[in-house]
Amino acid sequence: MGKVIIDEERCKGCGLCVEICPKHILTIAESTNSFGYQPARVANDEECTGCALCAQMCPDLAIEVYK
Ligand code: SF4
Ligand code: SF4
Repeated sequence: MGKVIIDEERCKGCGLCVEICPKHILTIAESTNSFGYQPARVANDEECTGCALCAQMCPDLAIEVYK
């Protein structure tokens, strides 16, 4: 199984990681970071496979995945 860590201060809230995740693990937060962006957040990582598609997709290198 995988563990996803999102650096919310690096995230611009583009949603690419949310769209690509085959397990629908990620969501966009309702709160904002210090730059005013709504960052991606881990909604439920119980089914995360550690495939790292989300990290590969992120243009801001805001996601780390551990297996
Ligand atoms: S590692 Fe894969 S399954 Fe886990 S959140 Fe990222 S895209 Fe989804
Ligand atoms: S792809 Fe990166 S910048 Fe875009 S919402 Fe996900 S973590 Fe944030």
